[in-house]
Amino acid sequence: AFEDNTVVTVFGASGDLSKKKTFPALFGLFREGYLHDTTKIIGYARSNLSDDDLREKIKPHLKTRNGKEDEGKIERFLKMVSYISGPYDENQGYETLKTEIEKFEKEKGVKQPHRLFYFALPPSVFVTVATQIKKLVYAKNGITRVVVEKPFGHDLQSSRELQEKLSPLFTEEELFRIDHYLGKEMVKNLVLYRFGNTFLNAAWNRENIQMVQISFKEPFGTEGRGGYFDQIGIIRDVMQNHLLQILTLLTMERPVSFDPESIRDEKVKVLKAFAPIDTKDILIGQYAKSEDGSKPGYLDDETVSPESKCVTFAALGFKIHNERWDGVPIVMRAGKALNEGKVEIRIQFKAVPSGIFNDIPNNELVIRVQPNEAIYLKCNSKTPGLATTTQVTELDLTYSSRYKDYWIPEAYEALIRDVLIGDHSNFVRDDELDVSWKLFTPLLNYLEGPDAPQPELYPYGSRGPKNLIKYLEDHKYVFEKEGLYQWPIACPD
Ligand code: NAP
Ligand code: NAP
Repeated sequence: AFEDNTVVTVFGASGDLSKKKTFPALFGLFREGYLHDTTKIIGYARSNLSDDDLREKIKPHLKTRNGKEDEGKIERFLKMVSYISGPYDENQGYETLKTEIEKFEKEKGVKQPHRLFYFALPPSVFVTVATQIKKLVYAKNGITRVVVEKPFGHDLQSSRELQEKLSPLFTEEELFRIDHYLGKEMVKNLVLYRFGNTFLNAAWNRENIQMVQISFKEPFGTEGRGGYFDQIGIIRDVMQNHLLQILTLLTMERPVSFDPESIRDEKVKVLKAFAPIDTKDILIGQYAKSEDGSKPGYLDDETVSPESKCVTFAALGFKIHNERWDGVPIVMRAGKALNEGKVEIRIQFKAVPSGIFNDIPNNELVIRVQPNEAIYLKCNSKTPGLATTTQVTELDLTYSSRYKDYWIPEAYEALIRDVLIGDHSNFVRDDELDVSWKLFTPLLNYLEGPDAPQPELYPYGSRGPKNLIKYLEDHKYVFEKEGLYQWPIACPD
């Protein structure tokens, strides 16, 4: 198998992502038996570090599951890791890398090399590193795989430019664009849950669905990193990529098979049926000081211009013009510095016909992506006892109680495993990236252009702008009367 004697090179190994995600994910796979102990892992960056320096840096981030036994695995894993210090834009370091890789492959008698290059790097050096890899360490008689992290451009034009520079170097088959949401357990479940259940599949359309919401809520602000965030904003940060991925999986048609291209074909197809985002159909916000004054507003961040109109909260209305979705309001909302942290999908169904019932709540299917994965269907059931009234209850799947003994991989673990076995299902294809930027770029140009609207201020720690309730009602969301539904179990933190 190609997993044996694979060489994984992590570029930017001195950085934050590699320490917190890439190496821990490689270790997670090793711990669970999904990464062969004959794999060679090389960290590469400019910083002057020794092998042991790198090991010390990553060690605190490696997590055990089975106490003592896993601690031994940490030591074994760290022995597989080494470091090369070198520049990104000159041959010198890559030549050392080539020598090391070839020596390893020769020792192991590898006939068909498998080399994986992971870019834990700022995008400014993507093309430089890609060019050097192609020139000096590409596996000519084997398999080369290159993993790239977001951002894939800043808008349609820059995304195309990046693609134009990368595509002569690596085929689409060799490139893996990570959107780590696609590695999340619940996101991976979407296609199976939708198409694997007749009752859901039958109701998944404009005849039955009142509206759809995808929400991303973060309980903290930019916390001193506003200077970085100011260029990005919440829409680029999580909506154009992560939430759009969720939305396409929710709305696409049934793929003909689980084959990666079949799934990605359907995603592109539904994206092409999206109407352009209407700049009048949005609600944008920016957080201000918390009500008690203890938390700073976005503009209090010294790294941010006092005039910044940076969007830290957005609700966007989407319309899909096809047989399944025409007329169904779809709201995607995301915000920083809100009252809680969660990512969830809420499908509200239409009201039951009036007659025997007087004003009973609409069914809702809620899929909580994080934290504490859960799927629950809010439905009406007879209040137990002699009365014939109904009450709202739930059909519930809470992962932490139902799947106690399962290992649920971290997103990066699942995705790196996919790269190792060459499965592209959970990676973003070039044409998909292009359509997604096409959809968002006009909106971003408007929000960042000369006529940019002023975002509505909302207090740090609140639910977001005051107008959110009205915005959701305008998109046909029917709020339940307060106190009607009680979830009896406190959620574990
Ligand atoms: P980082 O720590 O800023 O950079 C990684 C390494 O790249 C640094 O240790 C540095 O290594 C080198 N580097 C930094 N700035 C450079 C520059 N201007 N020119 C050349 N080399 C430079 O970045 P990161 O947070 O690890 O993120 C890496 C990539 O993943 C980025 O594209 C980021 O957008 C993406 N990403 C990060 C996260 C996260 O949680 N951090 C999450 C999702 C996506 P040397 O100086 O030693 O060469
Ligand atoms: P809910 O808290 O009643 O919220 C329903 C929807 O209305 C959400 O989209 C919520 O927005 C919105 N909303 C409520 N008040 C609002 C306001 N003042 N302004 C703007 N939007 C408002 O949700 P629920 O589904 O009925 O669940 C109730 C509780 O039970 C939740 O804590 C849930 O986690 C828990 N529960 C847990 C499980 C489980 O763990 N398995 C199962 C069932 C229920 P926001 O999203 O912004 O709050």
